[in-house]
Amino acid sequence: MNILVVNGGSSSLKYQLYDMEREVVTAKGLCERIGLGGSRLTHTAMESGVKTVYEGAMDDHKAAIAQVFNALVASEGGVLKSHTEIDAVGHRVLHGGDKFTESAIVTDEIEAMVEQLIPLGPLHNPANLAGIRACRDLMPGVPQVAVFDTAFHQTMPEHAYTYAIPYEYYDKYGVKLRRYGFHGSSHRYVSERAAKMLGRESDPNFKVIVCHLGNGSSFSACKGGRSVDTSMGLTPLEGIPMGTRSGSIDPTILQFIMNREGLSMDEMIDVLNKKSGVLGISCVSSDFRDIDGAAKEGNHNAQLALDIFRYVGKKLIGSYAAALEGVDAIAFTGGVGENSGDTRAAMTSGLEFMGVVLDAEKNAERGAERDVSAAESRVRILVIPTDEEFVIAADTVRLTAAGVTPDSQ
Ligand code: AMP
Repeated sequence: MNILVVNGGSSSLKYQLYDMEREVVTAKGLCERIGLGGSRLTHTAMESGVKTVYEGAMDDHKAAIAQVFNALVASEGGVLKSHTEIDAVGHRVLHGGDKFTESAIVTDEIEAMVEQLIPLGPLHNPANLAGIRACRDLMPGVPQVAVFDTAFHQTMPEHAYTYAIPYEYYDKYGVKLRRYGFHGSSHRYVSERAAKMLGRESDPNFKVIVCHLGNGSSFSACKGGRSVDTSMGLTPLEGIPMGTRSGSIDPTILQFIMNREGLSMDEMIDVLNKKSGVLGISCVSSDFRDIDGAAKEGNHNAQLALDIFRYVGKKLIGSYAAALEGVDAIAFTGGVGENSGDTRAAMTSGLEFMGVVLDAEKNAERGAERDVSAAESRVRILVIPTDEEFVIAADTVRLTAAGVTPDSQ
């Protein structure tokens, strides 16, 4: 079964083609500058290693998908004879609101629901829809599945997802104003892998804190494979400071800055999403490797950005251990979580009182899935490379093979 996984951004589109019989990626690529002029597609055939770059107009997502089809069947770097060999498409969709607790086969009704949620995902949901519509137009009849970033966290209890604002606002506007959480495919994948690594797959009491640390970062508290709390909120802006996002702050700061700088609310939110986080503090970069480098050269603000990021991460670990009333494992994932031993060390240091003891040597080694805790640690500290695309491909196979329809969910 060939499954195309599509992750549509406003001017970009990432894709991976899976051969699900062998569970391998056969091709992957990225379309950039869609609709902006100077568009390009970078395509890699995984098994031959052939990399091709296509430059040429891609006015919209439909043109981008058409270009992806060309790359997939090209004499150089192609992996299919025809795009009709694609059996189904899985789409990453940012916001599923409280309507989607699971992935879903795309129908007109599902599309309408994703559209209705645009106010909660103004940048991503329209781009995700554009990807869905482009595939539907170019491959009519081929099943498409939407995999929502929010779905995994729909198991949170009411007291974890409700904000303490006047309750009349909660359900007044057609979309519920509550915590949703994001990176759901990653939290789901990593929590499942953690349980498997420790032989606790079917244990309803297995408690793991997943630390997804990358350009965007979020934490989740999972019990028995279900999310019971997570750090991102109504939108991905809440929680730990990230590459460019502020994370949680006192909202009165907005009023203070807006009054003095003459900013509108939209402009202020833009500052919090795009100019804050470790970029805002370090004044160096949003990229953690750049910040690491600057901190090692003695840049105070770069070090401060790292210190804040790591301190807030540690506080989240502590608070989620309390929320779970105990913890069996802490799992690190994402570009920073998988690669930065310093960050893992800082976020777990001083937590020996909770039974969390890192093994410095194991933590310094590189590798794939591994346990970096000391033998005496009561809590296992794991490094688990995430694989959101595989989750999307697997859900697409599961739903299309089972012939699940929205009505039967
Ligand atoms: P992601 O968003 O999960 O792809 O993660 C991207 C982030 O991971 C970027 O900020 C990178 O600088 C960071 N990253 C990747 N490798 C390392 C590393 N070895 N040390 C620190 N940060 C890293």
